Amino acid sequence: MTGQLLGFIGVGRMGGPMAGRLLDAGYRLCVYDSNPASTAPLVARGAKLAKSAAEVASAADIVLLSLPTPPIVTSVVLGPNGVSQGNAVKTVIDLSTSGPSAATAIAKALGDRQINWIDAPVSGGVPGAEKGTLAVMVSGPKAIADAIDPILKVFGKTFFTGEKPGLAQVAKLGNNLLAAAAIVLSSEALAMGVKAGLDPQVMIDIINAGSGRNSATQDKFPKSILTGTFDYGFATALSYKDVRLCVDEAEALGVPMVAGAVIRQMLAVTNAKYGPDSDFTSIAKVIEEWAGVEIRSKKT
Ligand code: NAD
Repeated sequence: MTGQLLGFIGVGRMGGPMAGRLLDAGYRLCVYDSNPASTAPLVARGAKLAKSAAEVASAADIVLLSLPTPPIVTSVVLGPNGVSQGNAVKTVIDLSTSGPSAATAIAKALGDRQINWIDAPVSGGVPGAEKGTLAVMVSGPKAIADAIDPILKVFGKTFFTGEKPGLAQVAKLGNNLLAAAAIVLSSEALAMGVKAGLDPQVMIDIINAGSGRNSATQDKFPKSILTGTFDYGFATALSYKDVRLCVDEAEALGVPMVAGAVIRQMLAVTNAKYGPDSDFTSIAKVIEEWAGVEIRSKKT
């Protein structure tokens, strides 16, 4: 609805471009982020700047979140000066990857205050956030999900998973386990090829024309690994958090994840060696070091 005011908290790598698309679509925004550098481009485009999450939730009845971790989401919503202290908010939409346990607990706490909680984790990375081609996984009360669907469609394609809080988060965790696993296994295959004498660009072209193609060989290798830039736009700490949440959830459900546990450890190694702020494509650097090769395009 053109002109409708929305709240947006957490406008970093993903939230920034998503909020920008809402402005493009004609929504007005009230934004808050603990890092002023994140809000500046949106304020320059006319977004109203709030000093706290509570102020956002006193300005807008619908508040969107794109925040790093489950504890941060929980404290921004339920903590002091949090969203639940606002006097206008009726619906909170969580675009973050928060995992099902935090989502369930927050939905319950907000429900007691007559505030709706919608899980809407997204997949497709920064390029998808910029282009509006994300997969948006939705769970929560169906009537509310239907009402806010036009907002979520600004970000990409929506998939309603059910009314149970956190259900969409489970889908997102499964997706992100696969995205990280694709980097790990593709790095192993490419390191072997390079060590044997193959040009990694030729090998990527072969895989992408063959049955081994995946999100790492199609996107991450060409953009950030073959170029040596390691700048895909997703922090190692956040990928590690997602895979940890995934393996923990599987364990709680009684689903063995033998390979998932290995992917989790590969992210633990990458996090320890290259730091939480490194890009998650740095997984390839760990395997490069073990193999004693670099997977770089010869064209650069
Ligand atoms: P980011 O760190 O770039 O952005 C998070 C923003 O939240 C930052 O601007 C930060 O300043 C702000 N913030 C942190 N603590 C805050 C607080 N207490 N109050 C207000 N603002 C606070 O992270 P991101 O990559 O944009 O990821 C955001 C969420 O989206 C995460 O849950 C992540 O797992 C998920 N996600 C990321 C990607 C990706 O490719 N980057 C893709 C899909 C989903």
